[in-house]
Amino acid sequence: MARRLLGHNEIRKGRSNGDQPVKIPVAKDLEKDPATMRREDEISFYSREYPLESFAIEESASAEWAAGVRDEFSPETTVLYEKFQKEMEPAVEWIRHSGELEPTCEPTGEDVTDALRKKAYELGYGEVGFVHFDRRYIYQARRKDVRADLPHAICLALEQDYSATQTLPSLEAEEAQGEAYKRQAELAEKLVGYINSLGYSAQVSGPTWHFGPMIPMFVQAGLGQLGVNGQLLSPHFGSRARLQIILTNAKVNYDKPVDYGIHKFCEVCQVCFMRCPGRAIQGQRLWFRGVEKAKLIYKRCRPVMARYSGCGVCMKVCPIQKYGLEPVMEHYIETGEVLGKGTANLEGYELPDKGYFKPGKLPVLGAAFFDMPVGKTEDHIVEEYKEGLAEASSQAEREKVWGKYRESMERSLARRNSIIDMGMDLAN
Ligand code: SF4
Ligand code: SF4
Repeated sequence: MARRLLGHNEIRKGRSNGDQPVKIPVAKDLEKDPATMRREDEISFYSREYPLESFAIEESASAEWAAGVRDEFSPETTVLYEKFQKEMEPAVEWIRHSGELEPTCEPTGEDVTDALRKKAYELGYGEVGFVHFDRRYIYQARRKDVRADLPHAICLALEQDYSATQTLPSLEAEEAQGEAYKRQAELAEKLVGYINSLGYSAQVSGPTWHFGPMIPMFVQAGLGQLGVNGQLLSPHFGSRARLQIILTNAKVNYDKPVDYGIHKFCEVCQVCFMRCPGRAIQGQRLWFRGVEKAKLIYKRCRPVMARYSGCGVCMKVCPIQKYGLEPVMEHYIETGEVLGKGTANLEGYELPDKGYFKPGKLPVLGAAFFDMPVGKTEDHIVEEYKEGLAEASSQAEREKVWGKYRESMERSLARRNSIIDMGMDLAN
């Protein structure tokens, strides 16, 4: 490989508040206009005809299955999730009702973009951006909850602990994820208080209770680009950035998407695609709901996540997550190569019952490993009920089938408020 021509430099804020700005060189052969990676008409069409719904609802059968598998393979992860759920309950309750808080004074009508950005950085957020809130990305089940009079989205990224993340897949990394969520909840409460004190309203999406997918708005705000691993790759933290959105009616200016060269860099890199233990990541992108993306195969991911503490190998092995975008892009300009690719330091990982996997080696997981129910639990219960009724030959048997149906349905609905994966929404 050889040195690459420089296309342009992107100047971004430093990693922490007060740090000097950084210059990210983008090679000419990695440049791609962000507008070409979206088709607005398609996004609108799919949002209208096939509205988004939370995985916690759409895929509740596999979520329930995963909880059982996790209890068996990694009971300590179950204990961690239960503890996290208990600790998060008050915060989630606050988030649900954050939109009901009243402003505490009359607004001046001035543009408060800089004031909000400054406050968010002071609080500890790592990246802050402003965009129009795109209502096409609201889950069906949340439509009734999201205020229609708050047109602006403040996109906020918080860094998850670096060292713990490098141990993925592990309980330590999962705990770090939970800690980041708890911190997000604390910071949001402070930032909403500040917005209210300026005379404006606010409503919070996440953690644990989200309006819908957030990455598209973070990309539009120039806070990163979508990686082949399906995660937002932000300049300083890569996919270690935990995302949150606060809606507001405060007067703000919007940011713009940025070409960091990530879209094309992923085509050269492909490390997550090659290292995913479940072979769930696709190397080739396709158009999905109006966005050009590598579509993750969910059925090959969840069974791995369920057994190995949320997995996350795709996050661990991403050079932008591990080294940051600046050194990765500098190395590419110098050599035309991907920093760390092929090294055990970047690519190696361990699965508790299978051992260590160096670059080039992947675990063998048989078909039975991926045998998992799909769709909604409720649909499976109804099917079971129908089959039971068809087989019942007396009134007593029919009543027994009905009793079982009711019990299963009630149990399933009661589970809707429990944490399934650390990063997954509550269904209610
Ligand atoms: S979480 Fe694990 S199984 Fe799922 S896509 Fe990432 S690396 Fe693959
Ligand atoms: S590992 Fe490589 S291909 Fe995968 S998201 Fe990161 S940069 Fe892109």
